[in-house]
Amino acid sequence: MAIAIDGKKIAAEAKQHIKKWIERDLKRAPTLAIISIGNDDASKVYMRNKIKAAEEVGIEAKQFHFNQEQYYDTYEFNYLINQIVCNHDGIILQLPVPSWCNAHDIIDKIPFWKDVDGLTAENMGRLRETDRHIMDIIMPCTPQGIMEMLGNIPIELKGKHAVVIGRSNLVGRPIAEMLLQSNMTVTICHSKTPKDELLRYFATADLVVSAAGQKDLIDEWDALQYSRDYRHDFYNNFTVKENRVIIDVSINRDEDGKLCGDFSEEFKQKYSEYYTPVPGGVGPMTVAMLMFNTYLAAKDGWFWENKENKKRKELTE
Ligand code: NAD
Repeated sequence: MAIAIDGKKIAAEAKQHIKKWIERDLKRAPTLAIISIGNDDASKVYMRNKIKAAEEVGIEAKQFHFNQEQYYDTYEFNYLINQIVCNHDGIILQLPVPSWCNAHDIIDKIPFWKDVDGLTAENMGRLRETDRHIMDIIMPCTPQGIMEMLGNIPIELKGKHAVVIGRSNLVGRPIAEMLLQSNMTVTICHSKTPKDELLRYFATADLVVSAAGQKDLIDEWDALQYSRDYRHDFYNNFTVKENRVIIDVSINRDEDGKLCGDFSEEFKQKYSEYYTPVPGGVGPMTVAMLMFNTYLAAKDGWFWENKENKKRKELTE
């Protein structure tokens, strides 16, 4: 019987710890600025969840909303963004942004020690360095949350095969990097991976992390077809490795408007030992890790800022 990894419970425990650490280590409430651009409905829900979680742990979160295309990239707009960046411990740009806005224009304005989403080139680059100390990086929230969840189940990652579906900056690439650093053998699949290849990797993986954003990415019908075409076992059953884990990151909507992941809950239960449900899996962990990163930014930000200023001063002397 497959076990659902309870993201809500792990996230609630993590938030309790973060609340205590904030009270113990900081003499003030950390501040988090959420910059939102455009009118994405799903983003509104995510932002509400982030602001609620911030209240729970004692972080002051504020949303800064920009919606006028003609205002974007003006002198005043850039001045305001810089002000927001200067006046807060942690900054995130709520993604996705509309097509008239280039997310990198804004992310590039965030110094890496305030980049609590771990999306700046500096943090992404540091994550790839094999000898970088973990405290020198702000990790992207969703992959960090996935690693926390994996740490909560009695399954060894070292030497096993991980298949990551999706290659985005937000999820696919950083989680592949983290799994590699956990000594897993990592395969990355994406939209151009042929379906039969995707199924072959899915069947042979010890861990599947799926972030394709495609409802029923693989379903029973695919499994049946695959086992017929490739005769996976003597009885033509679709067989998968034992003790396997499916982490379903995606948040899609089904025909009735209900949230669902890349795989149905029944499918995950049938083909895994441990799996994350949608909702209630990776989502709450992402928010908890954002709170953790904001705490870190408030605690250690001054150190990095001083170090950067010193470097700049030395260069101009
Ligand atoms: P994205 O659109 O940037 O990337 C999707 C990736 O999936 C791409 O790399 C694409 O190549 C791949 N892909 C698409 N169709 C595929 C297919 N048929 N087969 C194999 N690969 C395919 O999206 P993203 O930002 O990485 O987010 C992915 C999903 O995860 C979305 O549903 C998003 O809502 C969800 N998400 C959830 C959380 C959370 O906290 N739970 C956080 C971030 C993103």
